[in-house]
Formats: sequence, structure tokens, C-alpha cells
Amino acid sequence: MVPAGPYHLGDFLSPDELAGGVEITIDEQVVGSVLTAGTPPELTPREELFLERINQALLYAALGATSLALFLSLFLARTLTRPLHELIAATRAMAQGDLEQQVAVRSQDELGELAAAFNQMSVRLTRANELRRQMTADIAHDLRTPLTVIKGYTEALRDGDLPPATATFETIYQEAEQLNHLIDDLRTLSLADAGELTLHRRATAPQDLLERAAAAYLPQARQLGIALHVDAVPDLSPVQVDPDRLAQVIGNLVSNGLRYTPEGGRITLAARQRADGAYLIIQDTGAGIAPADLPHIFDRFYRGDAARETNEGESGLGLAIAKSLVEAHGGALSVSSTLGEGSAFVIALPAICGTV
Ligand code: ADP
Repeated sequence: MVPAGPYHLGDFLSPDELAGGVEITIDEQVVGSVLTAGTPPELTPREELFLERINQALLYAALGATSLALFLSLFLARTLTRPLHELIAATRAMAQGDLEQQVAVRSQDELGELAAAFNQMSVRLTRANELRRQMTADIAHDLRTPLTVIKGYTEALRDGDLPPATATFETIYQEAEQLNHLIDDLRTLSLADAGELTLHRRATAPQDLLERAAAAYLPQARQLGIALHVDAVPDLSPVQVDPDRLAQVIGNLVSNGLRYTPEGGRITLAARQRADGAYLIIQDTGAGIAPADLPHIFDRFYRGDAARETNEGESGLGLAIAKSLVEAHGGALSVSSTLGEGSAFVIALPAICGTV
């Protein structure tokens, strides 16, 4: 018996009273009965006050917890969505063509990283766009110059202002050749950019590559009074390259060397063994390159001050193409130069092309 209502511990109940309850049966045996204890006893005013206070406290606690949860969720939603809204606005502006966009980096978490990466992407895209614009202007300029000459001469011939002399036709031919050359260069660069340059590789001795270039440029070097010679250590391992493309690269470097080296100077074509491949070095005792020009000479259409002043040199694409061709072989092209002393261009070629 559990004391409750009118019942006390140790009370005996009559069968009639027990019949009013619900029997508790375990293993088909009645082990007890549950009786309702009747109406609960009246609460004293103190007990009622206590209960009321407890209820009030529970209500306040529930209200407080709900408001705190609401405030926290609003705060979190705001801190999460604000940078996202900024990013969305900046991305939309970019999509409209306004590439120069920067968003605030407010945190160190993933959202902060996303904002920083976005800013970096915007800087790169802006720079690439600027380069593209510059390049288009350079191409237009370089196409216009020979075209203007061709147009001027043909007009003069048509109008009878110039006699149809061989020298006139030769000038027109030279200008047309220059246009052709520029278009070929642009095509090579765009193929290299797209990774679609076809290379016919075969095992080639580094020394052969240098001797081929030396033979091609020896007459011009003699004419200019510049010594040109090959210095290759014997028994270098062969490299897997496209000899024609490499000849184009070396030829370009030698031709630059001849252009920027005064009479009495020297150009050396050297080959050295590297751990896995070979170095080809084209060194001159020429004008050298100003430190301010050095970081840019491989840029497309870049011409050093000296080249621009004398209007010597070509389109400023030569070194950009040489670099692209060497990189297409998995190699690297670098330069070291001292103004007034000379320059050395180094082609690092891997034995098995693909990795340097
Ligand atoms: P360019 O058509 O003007 O020769 P390149 O891309 O071949 O264009 O060369 C870019 C610039 O690098 C040249 O304008 C020149 O200022 C500089 N340069 C290249 N090779 C040499 C060199 N051997 N000696 C001095 N300056 C050089």
C-alpha cells in the first residue's frame, strides 16, 4: 500500500473496496490493485503561491530561451548572408563586364577565404583583360605599318607617280613578307596558348642544334664583324625535341644577339649537361638589357627602349614565341644580363620532354 488520499500504510481494505480498483496481474496471478485516491487534498495558500511562482519562472525561462535563440539565429543569418550578398553583387557586376571588383574580407573562415579568392580572381582577370586590350592595339599597329607602306606604293604606281622599278616592287614584297611573318608568329603563339602546337620530336644531339644555328647565321655574323662560335662539351646526352622548332628558338636568340652586339663582339653557343637533360646557352657581348626591361622582355610585343628608339628589332614577339616553344617542350627559357656587358639566354631542356 502506498499512502495516498484516505489510505494509510498498513490499512486493510474490504473486497468491496478492492473491487472498485483495477487489478494488477503478473503471470496470471493477481498481485495487487490500483485504487483512485479520491480528490486530492486542498493546497494551502503557501503551497499555491509556491506553485504559481514555479509556473511563472518556467514561463519566463521559456520566453527568454526562445528570444535568445531567435536573436542568435538572426545574428548568424546576418553574418553569413552579408558577405554572400556582397559576393553576389560583385559577381553580377563582373558578369556585366566590370571586372575590377573587390569585396571586404571579414573573417578567417571559409567565407573569408572565398572573398580573398574572389578578389584575387578579379585582379588576375583585370590584368589579363588589360593585356588583351594592349595586345590587340599592338597587333593593329603592327599590321597597319606595313599595310600603309604597301598601300602608299601601290597607289603611287597606279597613278604613275612612281616608275615600276624593281626596288619599288622589292619594298612592297618586303612589307608583305613582314605581314606574313607577323601573322605566322601570332598563329604560333595562339597554337601554343591552346596547347595545340604540333611537335615532331626525335632524339637530337644538343651540339647538332647549335651547329645548325651557327651555320645559318655565320655569313650574317661575318658581315657584321661579330665572332660566332659553338662550344659544346663532348658526348652530351641527346634530347627529345622538335629540331625545327628548336632551330627557330635558337635562331631567334642568335638574331637578337647579332642585332644588339656591336662590331668586334662575340656570340657563343654553348651546350652543357644538366642532371636530366641539357642546357643550351646563347651568350653575347652586346649592349645588355636594362634591369627595368629585364622582367618584361618575354612579354608579347615588348620592346626595350633601345630597340624602340632605333626602330630596330621586329614586332617584339620573338622572345615570347621562343619561351612558348621551349615550354611546349617541357623546358624553360631564362636570361641573365648586365647592361653594357652582354646577355646570356639559357634554354633548359629535359632529356625526356614533359618535365623540367
Ligand atoms: P624584338 O622583336 O624587339 O627583337 P624580342 O621579343 O625578340 O623582340 O625582344 C624583346 C626585347 O628584348 C628587345 O626589344 C630588346 O630590348 C631585348 N633583347 C632581346 N635580346 C637581346 C639581346 N641579346 N641583347 C640586348 N637586348 C635584347
